[in-house]
Amino acid sequence: MTRLINDKSPSPFHSGEREVQRRMGVRDKMERFGRKVIRDFMPEQHRAFYHQLPFVFVGHADQEGWPWASILFNKPGFMESKDERSLSINAKPVDGDPLNHSLMVDTKLGLLGIELTTRRRNRLAAHIHACKGQQIELTVDQAFGNCPQYIQTRELEVIKDDGLPDSEVHDITHFDREVQDLISSSDTFFVASYVANDSGEASEGVDVSHRGGRPGFIRIDDDQNLTIPDYLGNNHFNTFGNFIENSKAGLLFLDFERGHIVTLTGTVEILWDSPDTRYFEGAERLWTFKLDHGRKLKHVLPLRWKQPEFSPNSLLTGTWQEAQALKEAEQLKEQWRPYKVEKIVQESSVITSFYLSAEGHQATKFIPGQFLTVKAEIQGKEQVRTYTLSSSPSDDFYRISVKREASADGAVPEGVFSNHLHSNVTVGDTLFAKAPTGQFTFDTASERPVLLLAGGVGITPMVSIARYALIEGFRTRKMRQVTFIGAAHDHQQRAFYEELNEISEASQHQIQAFWTLSKVDSELQPGKDFQHSGRISKELLQSILPLDDYDCYLCGPSGFMQACYDLLRSIGVSDARIHAEAFGPSTMRRTVDQATQCFEKQPATDQAIVEFSDSQVEQAWSKDDGNLLEFAEAHGFTPEFGCRSGQCGACKVKLISGNVVYETEHPADIRDDEVLLCCAVPAAVDGEEVSKVSIAL
Ligand SMILES: Cc1cc2nc3c(=O)[nH]c(=O)nc-3n(C[C@H](O)[C@H](O)[C@H](O)COP(=O)(O)OP(=O)(O)OC[C@H]3O[C@@H](n4cnc5c(N)ncnc54)[C@H](O)[C@@H]3O)c2cc1C
Repeated sequence: MTRLINDKSPSPFHSGEREVQRRMGVRDKMERFGRKVIRDFMPEQHRAFYHQLPFVFVGHADQEGWPWASILFNKPGFMESKDERSLSINAKPVDGDPLNHSLMVDTKLGLLGIELTTRRRNRLAAHIHACKGQQIELTVDQAFGNCPQYIQTRELEVIKDDGLPDSEVHDITHFDREVQDLISSSDTFFVASYVANDSGEASEGVDVSHRGGRPGFIRIDDDQNLTIPDYLGNNHFNTFGNFIENSKAGLLFLDFERGHIVTLTGTVEILWDSPDTRYFEGAERLWTFKLDHGRKLKHVLPLRWKQPEFSPNSLLTGTWQEAQALKEAEQLKEQWRPYKVEKIVQESSVITSFYLSAEGHQATKFIPGQFLTVKAEIQGKEQVRTYTLSSSPSDDFYRISVKREASADGAVPEGVFSNHLHSNVTVGDTLFAKAPTGQFTFDTASERPVLLLAGGVGITPMVSIARYALIEGFRTRKMRQVTFIGAAHDHQQRAFYEELNEISEASQHQIQAFWTLSKVDSELQPGKDFQHSGRISKELLQSILPLDDYDCYLCGPSGFMQACYDLLRSIGVSDARIHAEAFGPSTMRRTVDQATQCFEKQPATDQAIVEFSDSQVEQAWSKDDGNLLEFAEAHGFTPEFGCRSGQCGACKVKLISGNVVYETEHPADIRDDEVLLCCAVPAAVDGEEVSKVSIAL
């Protein structure tokens, strides 16, 4: 008789799995899901699946309590299920496989049936009820299907046994060169784990799981230790649930091309919050493996697999080499580094994108919304400006998209940097930039729907956010709802129209783009080319947005930002949910919620002596002299600067002594021994009429 795991049955997850699920905030969801998909019998589909497989992976614990992962193989049909609770396997473990000594009645086995050509897989927990010759009779305890995730597609080729060299068995307690080469080039391995009872036997069944990534995803720390990323999975946490109850694991590596096996057993540790995790693309956490002992089994498999086609999930993940390079790059983030202009794309009549690749160094990761500080020598003078990245952090390029600041009828000079980029920079040129930075960042941890409002070139952070949301949606299989509304003067100035439509299509319209144009040409189709004309209005928002609790992001000219901010506040969006950035001094006035802290201006002094310590010059400052950047420039100094609004941090210098206060809120990170010249003035000192400040210039 089969038994369905129903509401009254005990949980299909043991206490370790439940604990990890709880820690990850998926406990209730997984309990409901587990009860539907984990069965104590094999449905017909699973039975047929095992029957046609030529190999299966098996996990077990040996008599000393060490777990091992193994492979059993034979002609398809070697596994047969006579009824939904039983599975017979007609196969013998390879020479030297520790499983040879554990094939006895009551031994618990974990099985992973996997078809590398279709990436289908199925898991079983079972125990042996009879064993004779190479016939292993199993009773099924649990069965469930698994999604393909990080499985690479591989074509199998079976070669004749008699063509194989004699097999070799080598005991190992350290990773020798050959083992290290196999591990470092592996894109796949298998891990066995289990929960033990007091006498060290498997009490809750044994699990064997697949782990995949790009070659280089396993770090060989030394000749006994490995560090391995854990990617987003099916949230069952079978392996980690076992690890927290019993910190032992068996790892199996296959040499897919030569038919060798490396089987290892040892102890594990879960690194929930290692600082290294954030450098490793796709890693949610890490775990380490310390080898106790293992075996190198050479020429044991008559199975060969062709070069893999990588799973799309694996391609979204990193390698340790990349992680290390990122870490090093972050340590050098204050330095100017060269970037080659790889591609230039005109996005609209006024905005052009520059695709940049790091030249001879690793570009650092960034959060959507952050900017690059770029410098160039223009007409003999070094100029620095900041440009928000319009690419996504997982793109293998940086992209800045720059509006040409034209001179309106010669009334004002042309924008220096933007015109230089538009007119003089060509593919193959080098630009120098500091690592991305900035406080206007997309809240990647939030699950709330997102509203992006962009005016003109303020679209750049929004495109980055939309690209990021799409890629993260694929990676996590949970697409965040994003609504973009772009305001442009006319359709010629409407940048990224096609790109946003493509993102919208790919996200199955979870990410949507709407346009409002100030000037609508007669050939434009309402509803397709634009949705609205004129300013973003309450009616427009209400017609597009379902009532919900949004994270809102604004970027554009001052008037646009203020109007959008006031509009959002008027429809009840709290100040804290509105993230805003101006591409210059921000004049947006916030109406702060009571609970929200606001920027408190500290008292400035009226008069001060400012010492430029590097040049050993002292000058008298008074409040009419403005901020310290203006003051320094007025005295012939040429400090680096970018935005002049406290955002980019380019004018940060060392504060040698004295105190400064800030006239505006400044998002750039400033330590106590630093000063952001563009928005700082000398502070008042109690009892002193003239204060003194010394800065490193
Ligand atoms: C955080 C941040 C992110 C940014 N991201 C982007 C981005 O993604 N894309 C983008 O295009 N820009 C962005 N900017 C703006 C960018 O940094 C530059 O400010 C912009 O490109 C203009 O620089 P410029 O050298 O061309 O103009 P500048 O020479 O600095 O001149 C600025 C403006 O003033 C005008 N002007 C110059 N002299 C006078 C004068 N005497 N009287 C009146 N007007 C004058 C110019 O015509 C121009 O419009 C960002 C700015 C910040 C702070």
